[in-house]
Amino acid sequence: MLQQTRVATVIPYWERWMARFPTVQALAVAPLDDVLAAWAGLGYYSRARNLQKGAQHVVDSWRGELPRQAGELRAIPGIGPYTAGAIASIAYGERAPLVDGNVARVLARVFGIAHDIKSTIGQRVLWERAGELMSALPADAAPGNLNQGLMELGATACAPTGPRCLGCPLASHCVAARDGRQAELPVVAKRKRVDELPVIERELLWIEQGGAIVLVRRAATSGLWAGLWELPEVGHVDATFAPAAAFVAHHDQVLSHRRLRVRVRVATLATLVVPTDPTYDRIERVALADAADLGIAAATAAILRKYQDAPWATVTRSAAPDVAEPRARSRTRSARPRRARRARCTRTRRSSSTAAGRGPRRAGRRRRADRRR
Ligand code: SF4
Repeated sequence: MLQQTRVATVIPYWERWMARFPTVQALAVAPLDDVLAAWAGLGYYSRARNLQKGAQHVVDSWRGELPRQAGELRAIPGIGPYTAGAIASIAYGERAPLVDGNVARVLARVFGIAHDIKSTIGQRVLWERAGELMSALPADAAPGNLNQGLMELGATACAPTGPRCLGCPLASHCVAARDGRQAELPVVAKRKRVDELPVIERELLWIEQGGAIVLVRRAATSGLWAGLWELPEVGHVDATFAPAAAFVAHHDQVLSHRRLRVRVRVATLATLVVPTDPTYDRIERVALADAADLGIAAATAAILRKYQDAPWATVTRSAAPDVAEPRARSRTRSARPRRARRARCTRTRRSSSTAAGRGPRRAGRRRRADRRR
């Protein structure tokens, strides 16, 4: 819960989570819908899914008791080498190394590691160096303290820019400080620019009747959005469109290696038809007031928020032509009524969401809150 999220934000989520799932057994047997609903608002739903898979593994293989060795912890879904090393060394005193982003920066500078720290070879060298430090630890020293010391050093003195080498306890052993290479190390390969990422286009349907909308659920095995609810896609439901139905909203989102571009069209529906697409397993009419309590994909959540701010009914048909590329939209923007502009555009980076056209303070608040998720 705390990854990329502030403690103050997490506390109410943590309290609700522990009240709903007080034991590892309770989490293991809970319906996935309940797990995702309890996580709703924190984003990165794969963590919630992995927590439950991990709980199921611990119940099935370890009788509900978390194992204590890093090698055993690694076998639990959702626990990677860093988390396994942290639990084993800090909680149980095992001489298990760990490498997170802060430790990688410290080690790359101290040892002068010239490999990209995200590359396979870079990771191998970092873990080897961390292991050597752990092996050299005196017999009466606490392994958890070494790991926590390295993490703390990276979080404080050995900052990404402007490291404070004068007061650093490792200064006399540090290659980067000796050679004045702090700005060069660690080596990190450049990420692709957002506009270089491939685009996935999706067209979703807003089917509303009597205060309820139609949502479909991704099957539990369908990858990134597994178990999450979404607006249905064209082709998933037996929908008809109002004559010349325009797009009423759009949403842009940057995923890890792709961009997602979603457009939303209003449609009507006679009967609910189970999606033939095997990546979906359920379709429901959900009261608008209850939708936020479900585990909802970020794009649909952003569109729901936008609707709450400016329902589509307030957008005149003539003011809402089909949505084109964002650049083309911005060129024609001043020609459209402000309210229509507000009703149509949401944009997120990763799972964050920003409503273009909202007041800048409000959009800024939303951006900052979502970045923390
Ligand atoms: S001496 Fe400077 S670069 Fe080296 S570990 Fe310490 S803070 Fe980082």
